[in-house]
Amino acid sequence: MNWALVTGGSRGIGREICAKLASMGYNVLINYKGNKEKAEETRQIVKNAGVYGELIPFDVADRQQVQDVLGKWIENNGDKIIEVLVNNAGIKDDVLLMWMKDEQWDNVLNTSLGGFFNVTKILVNSMLRQRYGRIINVVSLSGLKGLAGQTNYSAAKGGMIAATKALAQEVGKRNITVNAVAPGFIKTDMTAGINEAEMKQLIPANRFGTPEEVAHVVGFLATKEAAYVTGQVISVNGGLYT
Ligand code: NAP
Repeated sequence: MNWALVTGGSRGIGREICAKLASMGYNVLINYKGNKEKAEETRQIVKNAGVYGELIPFDVADRQQVQDVLGKWIENNGDKIIEVLVNNAGIKDDVLLMWMKDEQWDNVLNTSLGGFFNVTKILVNSMLRQRYGRIINVVSLSGLKGLAGQTNYSAAKGGMIAATKALAQEVGKRNITVNAVAPGFIKTDMTAGINEAEMKQLIPANRFGTPEEVAHVVGFLATKEAAYVTGQVISVNGGLYT
């Protein structure tokens, strides 16, 4: 069976995406930045599904590191085909723009949007040669709607949404689909500081979502049968108006 690469697969939404793709029969390359212990836990979950799981730590924001580590993996594994890429790694660092430090802007943009470019550029070439691929970008409600205190994060995710639509047009003829999934409020480390009891009143489903619910939609987009869905942004947000 072929391979899927999930960036930020050690925890949260990325972990559940790894589990979902493993349950669909994909061997999974699990990327993370520094949390080896959590990444190992994900690998165990993937292994339990009866497929291979391999850890591939690199910082998606570091172009040279991505080229060195991912480039080398591809070089050393010429027989293995990565046909699904999920650009999930992302961070937030919320502050009003008037107080935002340069590095808060740079780090958030470089991780989500820069990470998308750094990783996708390497993998899209082999997908074009194979004439098959599934690229799924994990974006956010914030990138569709814009949220106060998140000009950096909204810009990063909005940029990924635009890039999703553009790339879908570039590669559609080669049976490569490019889509985005836009979660609302999902229970992970990233939202641990947000008061669910207060926020849920704004959400028609009256609760935060689970990483599994996001992974389910990613799994759908990764299927062969989703071949005619491309350039789309699918919200997974419990009905929050965007
Ligand atoms: P999370 O629990 O904070 O996990 C973040 C993951 O990204 C971890 O695996 C982390 O690796 C990895 N990561 C962070 N920076 C990285 C880098 N520079 N290079 C490689 N990996 C990196 O986050 P989450 O809530 O699951 O979010 C996953 C994605 O969904 C993000 O793109 C986020 O913006 C998006 N999202 C989340 C929500 C939500 O409500 N949770 C809503 C909308 C969108 P380490 O473990 O090694 O640190």
